[in-house]
Amino acid sequence: AAEGGVTWGKAPCRFCGTGCGVLVGVRDGKVVAIKGDPQAPVNKGLNCVKGYFLSKVLNGKDRLTTPLIRKDGKLTPASWDEAMTLIASKFKESIAKYGPDSVAIYGSGQWTIFEGYAASKLFKGGIGTNNIEVNARLCMASAVTGFMTTFASDEPMGCYDDLDLGDTYFLWGANMAECHPILFSRLLTNRLNNPEVKIIDFATRRTRTSLMADRYIKFKPQTDLALLNAIAYVIIRDGLHDEAFIKEHVVFKKGKENIGYGLEDKFKFADEPKGITFEEYRDSLKAYTPEKVAALSGVPAETIVEMAHLYADKKRKVTTLWTMGFNQHTRGTWVNNLAYNVHLLTGKICRPGENPMSLTGQPSACGTTREVGTFTHRLPADMVVANPEHREKTAKIWGIDPKKIPAKPTYNATEMFRALDRGDIKVIWSQVTNPFQSLPNLNRYRKGARKGEGRFVIVSDMYPTRSTEQADVVLPSASWVEKEGMFGNAERRTHQWFKMVDAPGEAKDDLWQTMELARRLGHGSLFPYQHPQREIWEEYRKFGEGQGKDLAPYDAYVESRGLRWPVVNGQETRYRYVEGYDPYVKAGEGVKFYKNKPDHYRAVIWARPYEPAPEQPDQHYPFWLCTGRVLEHWHTGTMTGRVPELKRAYPEAVCEMHPDDAKKLGIKQGDQVRVSSRRGSIQLAADLNGRGKAEHGNVFVAFFDENKLINELCLDAYCPISGEPDYKKCAVKVEKA
Ligand code: SF4
Repeated sequence: AAEGGVTWGKAPCRFCGTGCGVLVGVRDGKVVAIKGDPQAPVNKGLNCVKGYFLSKVLNGKDRLTTPLIRKDGKLTPASWDEAMTLIASKFKESIAKYGPDSVAIYGSGQWTIFEGYAASKLFKGGIGTNNIEVNARLCMASAVTGFMTTFASDEPMGCYDDLDLGDTYFLWGANMAECHPILFSRLLTNRLNNPEVKIIDFATRRTRTSLMADRYIKFKPQTDLALLNAIAYVIIRDGLHDEAFIKEHVVFKKGKENIGYGLEDKFKFADEPKGITFEEYRDSLKAYTPEKVAALSGVPAETIVEMAHLYADKKRKVTTLWTMGFNQHTRGTWVNNLAYNVHLLTGKICRPGENPMSLTGQPSACGTTREVGTFTHRLPADMVVANPEHREKTAKIWGIDPKKIPAKPTYNATEMFRALDRGDIKVIWSQVTNPFQSLPNLNRYRKGARKGEGRFVIVSDMYPTRSTEQADVVLPSASWVEKEGMFGNAERRTHQWFKMVDAPGEAKDDLWQTMELARRLGHGSLFPYQHPQREIWEEYRKFGEGQGKDLAPYDAYVESRGLRWPVVNGQETRYRYVEGYDPYVKAGEGVKFYKNKPDHYRAVIWARPYEPAPEQPDQHYPFWLCTGRVLEHWHTGTMTGRVPELKRAYPEAVCEMHPDDAKKLGIKQGDQVRVSSRRGSIQLAADLNGRGKAEHGNVFVAFFDENKLINELCLDAYCPISGEPDYKKCAVKVEKA
């Protein structure tokens, strides 16, 4: 409705995976105001500081407004026709000379559902390559493989209601106060209303989250694997497990051990599971007595026992929450499995207030990348390219020959850029992400992209970034309410919004860009739409129908503040796998993990061992480096860095370190220091007592600052099951600059 010349419309926030609802104020064709949407169930009218500045994100002075083509080394303005003609010719040339696997697209969890769907359809169903990956591989792929290996279905059984309904919250590797502030405020509200509520912060650094938690339990990096096993050990040793639940709903398995760290240029998707008995599982935990794990992790044995008893306390409703501390881990899949193990052992799952949940970092990491399946190995609705029936079903919906979709996955995100470095990929198109700031071991991939010899890099974005400077062609993109869109958040909630303003200059949305390339490559028949968004949605939702992934007709999202799938007969689902909530579980069935047919509808408890990190501090590089986010900036800072208020509040990245460590090195607050790993080196100011406090032997640097590329230092080892790299652990040295 119009109010003082301002028209308000609803949309989900453009930033994190929380999926807050906002009201967007438009006057004279410009977004002029933002307010929290009081009708939005996620945030109930509240935004975080980034959300309130959404309008300024669209209106930065240096928006890209015209295509740019590199000529004589300089990016030079060009027409859309010139740019798309050049791009299409590079694709055709490369495919003709080297085959379809020589071209690739790299997208993100900021793609709308339509954009991700169209890219997948063009590359897998049109060009005939599985060379499609997303930056979500860098942030929550381990959550996907965790869910898939334990429950045979991606995404949580619970929802954000658990934040209000539980009384015991275990946070692992999650600085919710800064990275998911609205969700954290729901936890704190719950505690204000209920003094019984406890928040336990398991972490390797002290943060604003630790400050507000009832307990801060610091542990040494990588020992989360051992700690969760020790908690399971105590639960069984002390007879606190739920025998009836286990008997009815659980099977036990072990996977292949010693499966490498993703450093050898081969993506295996390997696990090789074997069934084991409860007794074998119990015996596998004997290596994780509280005493042994105390020595390894630095957490006192009595604290481990106390936490195990808290997890298993029959009077308490336990929810476990984690983010990148678990997911960005060379054993990311394992540590996700271990978190589920504790809930499955105690039967604290699928009930209001009692669930495990991985929180996501991008607005549609779930809706687009996971649900649409824009990874090399996936198809929509949890299907995979390796399964002939899944390819058949996909081909039928897409109206193509099933042989068109290759059966073998190609590269995960890191491997995709290794392939570009080697020259196996010649043409790569990056949309709505910034890989040449966000990849680990960045120097290697920045150099790889500029090696010449036929390599051709296209970048679509709204602003100049560290990736556009690597590009041969830059395409100006429309963003957020400059186009119609849908995002899906971390609680399975799908949101819709309409276009509210025009994009500046000649900027166009990524959906148009992808469909235009399709047309020029002769694949236009894949996109026969009059109203692409609405028609893509109705086509896409055929994948999930009857599969436990049901989505509603488009108008249901137009009219609502988002719906949590499965949506059956117009009703959303708060809790999956449980009678009374999930339409797939019949009366009298209680809990049923119905997606896991091969295991007779049971979930899997995995024996997963502790393994040391592939690179650890030594005499030459004596500190652990951890990277992450701060409240004011989002990811690589390309949007929040253009908001003067946010930039002033947190102008540049700093090196957080412990005052004792700094003293030994003669470093004082604010001194310039040089942080170096075996892969790179950057200079920045030391921060000894800021909002984040490093523990002894650890340093932390945020990755938003395009002038201090901390990812140059990170190791590009990854979880061999999920393909997700570990940005939280590598060895560095710190010197006074
Ligand atoms: Fe946006 Fe996330 Fe902040 Fe909510 S918490 S307003 S979704 S950035």
